Amino acid sequence: MTSQEIKDLTGQYIMNTYGRFPVAIDHGEGARLYDPEGRKYIDFTSGIGVTDLGYGYQPWVDAVSAQAKKLGHTSNLFYTEPPAKLAEILCKRTGMSCAFFANGGGEANEGIIKLARKYSFDKYGKGRSTIVTLRNSFHGRTITTLMATGQDVFHNYFFPFTEGFRYVGANDLSALESQGDDVCGVLLELVQGEGGVLPLDQEYVQAVAKLCEARDWLLLADEVQTGVGRTGSLFAFQQYGILPDAASFAKGIAGGLPMSGILANEKCRDVLGPGTHATTFGGNPVCAAAGLVVQETLSDAFLEEVKAKGAYLREGIEALNLPCFGKTRGLGLMIGIEVREGWSNKDIAARLIDQGLLVLTAGPGMRLLPPLVITKEEMDQGLAIMKQALA
Ligand SMILES: *Cc1c(COP(=O)(O)O)cnc(C)c1O
Repeated sequence: MTSQEIKDLTGQYIMNTYGRFPVAIDHGEGARLYDPEGRKYIDFTSGIGVTDLGYGYQPWVDAVSAQAKKLGHTSNLFYTEPPAKLAEILCKRTGMSCAFFANGGGEANEGIIKLARKYSFDKYGKGRSTIVTLRNSFHGRTITTLMATGQDVFHNYFFPFTEGFRYVGANDLSALESQGDDVCGVLLELVQGEGGVLPLDQEYVQAVAKLCEARDWLLLADEVQTGVGRTGSLFAFQQYGILPDAASFAKGIAGGLPMSGILANEKCRDVLGPGTHATTFGGNPVCAAAGLVVQETLSDAFLEEVKAKGAYLREGIEALNLPCFGKTRGLGLMIGIEVREGWSNKDIAARLIDQGLLVLTAGPGMRLLPPLVITKEEMDQGLAIMKQALA
């Protein structure tokens, strides 16, 4: 099919819930994507932080194909090897105790919310169920995770929402200290992603961890976007010097297949017992086999390179001195670019995409989430397109 035929068919038969860019993608290689007519795009998006190994990464293709041939799905009524191995690696690399596997970020966050509420219910009974989240956060699109999201624009249309969420400003410790005894957990993104690539202060995060411990509130890290190597460590919490009680992950975990989950520490390992939490597709063996390749690839040396690549790209962007861009920020290959007043991030994204560079927006700025395997040549090509399109 041609790009136009794909767009027409989509318009006719897929519910119109996405504001799409006018590009159809057919295939990819490394950090390059091609439309059906063979036009090349440099990818600074990774399908929103998902394809950390890029496209056509041979070990990933081989592992997915082999597992698909062997066993595509069973259920959690039986045992399979790939998710057990993946859980072991994730725990050993983070100091967490156990994992639960699910399918998407919103669903993983529903799981940690349930975990915090049941932990508190088991220990203290009813009435201690409030989860505090941060303003400008993003936690998902289910009825509950929309309410966990600390942005009023998301609290519309779908009433009634789930009760039991309150919001405080990021980096405002006293707002958290003044919370009452109805709280059971604090949920935060260590780098706010959709909100605009805003890293929390290290001292704040460490103080929140201490406060949570003192009040027996669960510290919950939403690492759906920051997890799995994106920030230059396997999880962002490792760079913040904390061990949360539970962390959710999703986007990059399986390099492009739908998979998510929760990691829980020793204190929380038995909170969700048999019959309290489940999902049919969770721990799918093909997704888990893909996840194992991601873990094999993301060695400590590879993660150091992610940091170096992030620094290289940020310096490259700042050196272009483009009139529309202010400062860059972020962690590893999760990069935000400030957009100067008078410029629209949507217009800038459209112009870059038209010139062959795929980028994202977040909040009022730009957001770059390139595949973690991106090469210097590919980054240089992306920078050249930025210069040509925006100078
Ligand atoms: C993307 C994202 C989600 C939602 O994940 P889905 O897979 O779209 O449900 C939740 N939290 C954060 C921080 C995210 O970036």
